[in-house]
Amino acid sequence: MTRTQLWASGGGVQSAAIAALIVSGRIEKPDLAVIVDTEREQSTTWEYMDAVIAPALQSVGVTLHRVKKSDYATVDLYGGKDGETLLMPVFTDHSGEPGKLPGYCSTEWKRRVVQRWANDQGVKQCDMWLGISTDEMGRVTRTSGKWMNRYPLIEQAMNRGDCMSFVGSMGWPLPPRSSCWNCPNHTAQEWRDIRDNKPADWQSAIRFDREIRIRDPHAFLHHDCVPLDQADLDEKNGVLFSHCDSGMCFV
Ligand code: SF4
Repeated sequence: MTRTQLWASGGGVQSAAIAALIVSGRIEKPDLAVIVDTEREQSTTWEYMDAVIAPALQSVGVTLHRVKKSDYATVDLYGGKDGETLLMPVFTDHSGEPGKLPGYCSTEWKRRVVQRWANDQGVKQCDMWLGISTDEMGRVTRTSGKWMNRYPLIEQAMNRGDCMSFVGSMGWPLPPRSSCWNCPNHTAQEWRDIRDNKPADWQSAIRFDREIRIRDPHAFLHHDCVPLDQADLDEKNGVLFSHCDSGMCFV
């Protein structure tokens, strides 16, 4: 049985580089291309997708399907046996020291949504293309069976810098950072960018941060375990954990 080549775009620099490889003919076209809308994605991601990536792909006959998370996900913010587990990697001061909860959102809101959507398209076996570059080898996972991962940027020996150069060589602007506006993995710089350049996303994040403490007074989006609108977003006060350390958020 033929394996479907399915590109799961994440909307960031590496995904723009895969789009550039496809448009320039350096790699084959995927059979299917999809990006999941978590419905909390930063607004600038869609502006860039609509203005640059989707039209460029369409010019070579590739449609980038935008799939709403709520159409396929079985959970949103809370899950687990009791339905009370927050699925995001938020920070907590429950023990008296700042810590971080495990995150399941990338799996529930992205990977499983892509798989269910692909099933609806009749996909039986597939190679799922992920935008991981050579400087992120730790995020590469060996897979086997009907659903296998494939890494076009690693096959092309491209690191993040190569991705940026190649996107630039297409005459495309670099994409904005792609992530949910409420992602606890944001660095101080990323929070400042949202605060200073995306006021609607910033207000949504502040509201969200307050709301998660209604169920759990110890849950915070910021690693200092303080309300987001009171957090020190100075560069010196960097994040303690690496971005999207679950290794499952598509980039
Ligand atoms: S960007 Fe952050 S909040 Fe959104 S799915 Fe990924 S890890 Fe979760």
